[in-house]
Amino acid sequence: AYLDRIDAVEPDINAFLHVGRDSALEQARTADRRRADGEDLGPLAGVPIAHKDVFCTKDMPTTAASKILEGWQPPYDATVTARLRDAGLVILGKTNMDEFAMGSSTENSAYGATRNPWDTARVPGGSSGGSSAAVAAFEAPLATGTDTGGSIRQPAAVTGLVGAKPTYGGSSRYGVIAFASSLDTPGPFARTVLDAALLHEAFSGHDPRDSTSVDAPVPGVVEAARRADVQGLRVGVVKEFGGEGYQPGVTQRFQESVELLESLGAKVVEVSCPSFTSALAAYYLIAPSEASSNLARFDAMRYGLRVGDDGTRSAEEVMSLTRAKGFGPEVKRRIILGTYALSSGYYDAYYGSAQQVRTLIKRDFDAAFEHVDVLVSPTTPTTAFPIGERADDPMAMYLADLCTIPTNLAGNAALSVPCGLAPEDGLPVGLQIMAPALADDRTYRAGAAVE
Ligand code: GLN
Repeated sequence: AYLDRIDAVEPDINAFLHVGRDSALEQARTADRRRADGEDLGPLAGVPIAHKDVFCTKDMPTTAASKILEGWQPPYDATVTARLRDAGLVILGKTNMDEFAMGSSTENSAYGATRNPWDTARVPGGSSGGSSAAVAAFEAPLATGTDTGGSIRQPAAVTGLVGAKPTYGGSSRYGVIAFASSLDTPGPFARTVLDAALLHEAFSGHDPRDSTSVDAPVPGVVEAARRADVQGLRVGVVKEFGGEGYQPGVTQRFQESVELLESLGAKVVEVSCPSFTSALAAYYLIAPSEASSNLARFDAMRYGLRVGDDGTRSAEEVMSLTRAKGFGPEVKRRIILGTYALSSGYYDAYYGSAQQVRTLIKRDFDAAFEHVDVLVSPTTPTTAFPIGERADDPMAMYLADLCTIPTNLAGNAALSVPCGLAPEDGLPVGLQIMAPALADDRTYRAGAAVE
């Protein structure tokens, strides 16, 4: 049924870069067989899923929506993909994204923009916009994404879905094409908080193949989603996020969510996190710096595209021609920004200062979590914007992640849950719930209470 739905709506949505019809049917039969043989596969066996095209899949191409990886098929699975395969989930295909996960709209894909099923003239958010659109358009019940600065929560918010950014190190980065390694976090998309929790639990947990993986028990997210109560939960409203510059309908739905939490028994207070307003600036030094280093591996020798290798050119020339052709404009912008921020003479002023701001943000969270269990804010300042509106204005595009970035810089957990439609445009609004590292369960507990 999902494969038929994909055939029917893909011409309008463009959520997928690759659909594996035959392999999906084969995997579904295998899951049935394993279950019939008495294997305990867990609650998601046989459930179809779409993977963001940043996760390596040994049986499907993996491009990170870049021309530089066109046609590349990994020889191995990412840990997330492998674990879900073992649990019997059926891979429908790979979803579109901003190239190398750099963007907030999925317009930076080298393979065309994805459209928001709520209004196909609008973006589905990004960078995991193919995953959000696929679930929102009923092309898949579940999807994976990665969140480096908001790329799961923001697309979930603007397509009316649940999306979670797990604690950094709680989900493995092994086999995930790297953007900014100290921030990248794989996470789930689903239509309900419980579905997201089941998926979160299925791929999480310690992975010796990722040196930053946390060797701690997976937080009890499924139990928390089932519990779904906020009685006595201390909720802090982040003072710095909201009000001026936020779309009125976003502010209205956010305030209603806060009132709902209060009426369900939560204790709501206002909390100031003064360094959060510098998070965006710090992020746009740290993320490009890490990206400029990570993307050096695309050297025309090891993977994918190779341009001008006709026997007359040096390796450096081939590398330069390949990178010029293979990377899109946003990726080039980030490589240049990051290389500049890391260069000697500028390192302390830019990268060094950004790292100090990162510490201040972590301290704001630590101070807040001494008094409250979770923090809340709107997930995004506006609902889904029209395709093209911010494409030529990087600063306007970057603002989409204003509220989500602090969590990535601090490495803690957050979730976006739908909180109604903005009255002025009828589009979904997301409530962001943030919790300390390894307290992901709190975000699910509060999210399930208000959904
Ligand atoms: N929109 C942010 C960026 O462009 C975040 C992307 C992400 O989380 N992958 O970097």
